[in-house]
Amino acid sequence: MTQHRGEPSGNGPAGLEASSPAAAPAAAGGHPSFHEMWRDLLPIGRHPESRGYRRFAWTGADLDCRAWFKDQAEARGLTYEVDRNGNQWAWLGDPAAGDAVVTGSHLDSVPDGGAFDGPLGVVSSFAALDELRSRGADLARPLAIVNFGDEEGARFGLACVGSRLTAGQLTLDNAHKLTDGDGVSLPRAMEAAGYDPDTIGADPERLDRIGAFVELHVEQGRALDLSGDRVGIASAIWPHGRWRFDFRGEANHAGTTRLVDRRDPMLTYAETVLAARREAELAGAVATFGKIAVEPNGVNAIPSLVRGWLDSRAEDQTSLDTVVGGIEKAARGYADAHGIELDVVRESFTPVVEFDHALRDELGRILGKDTDLTVPVLGTGAGHDAGILSGRIPTAMLFVRNPTGVSHSPAESAAEDDCVAGVLALADVLEGLASR
Ligand SMILES: [Zn+2]
Repeated sequence: MTQHRGEPSGNGPAGLEASSPAAAPAAAGGHPSFHEMWRDLLPIGRHPESRGYRRFAWTGADLDCRAWFKDQAEARGLTYEVDRNGNQWAWLGDPAAGDAVVTGSHLDSVPDGGAFDGPLGVVSSFAALDELRSRGADLARPLAIVNFGDEEGARFGLACVGSRLTAGQLTLDNAHKLTDGDGVSLPRAMEAAGYDPDTIGADPERLDRIGAFVELHVEQGRALDLSGDRVGIASAIWPHGRWRFDFRGEANHAGTTRLVDRRDPMLTYAETVLAARREAELAGAVATFGKIAVEPNGVNAIPSLVRGWLDSRAEDQTSLDTVVGGIEKAARGYADAHGIELDVVRESFTPVVEFDHALRDELGRILGKDTDLTVPVLGTGAGHDAGILSGRIPTAMLFVRNPTGVSHSPAESAAEDDCVAGVLALADVLEGLASR
């Protein structure tokens, strides 16, 4: 389905649809492609009430997005293939030649996610390829666009499944253990969607053919908005982790137990939440208690147990250690004062991911060469397929300004001009890397 440029847009997320429909194609080198691609993707998997996206791995909405990707590849005469883990690839040039320059992102979403997280990178990749063709770019290296499957982990609870499998960071055994909320396993879900789950696993031959991977992504924060730049380059993905805090006190009657006689773990938990905010502010980091379980969970009962989960992320390991260490120390102090027992368990941890410095510097040179402008380099607290692949191949990321910083929400947005700037920056990067 292709809509015409002049047609009024439907009601959707802010940003692209709100601005002039004619602006993007003209600015993107005369190609109507960006706008048409965006329009075609926009209705897929959007919930009629929340207006958010529910494009979960291997569901109907995901399959519609995959069909869209295949159409885009074939319409451009690119070599289309699906790898052993269900990731989609569209090749310009010989896939087997080696030293390929690859770009792309993902098309799946979190529950009630926005339109930009993932799709902006995939749509921009096809538009950048169109731009290179219109420039008559002479490419010496093969170019590919990829749609990594199940990046958000919304259905099976683990993020970046497609790239993790490919990079060998998710074993076959563990992949088979992944199940969704209805008890459907990942292999059965793939099978139901028409893919062969028996082939999944590490794919080193494929990665060996890639010389560089560049993922364009909407920024999930306000750094570019605050600096006044349309496009930035990623420096690193912050180290992050999850910790479970168990506060144990004594259940008792909410009406008959004198305040001085209580051992109420909710008080200690509340003080710990405030400490988390304070410690994060001091370190320039983030810390969030976003999930809590209470026992016995009765409105007229003093709790016996409050279990809170802390998610914390910081620019570097030392800052993260300082924040989490500070929160735990404060929590122990409050616990001791109130007669509460405290256990702290680290449930998951991902160390810092530094993107390849040489590739990052190369991107900076390419993007700054005509303007003498320095393209801002920024870190991010969010995980990405590029982060997974960075341990195996040189990877880099471009961020496009997000005026509110909101992400994983229908309110996620990017201005049309900024999306076009992203396409042109990506085209410059691909041309700069692949033409040499
Ligand atoms: Zn994403």
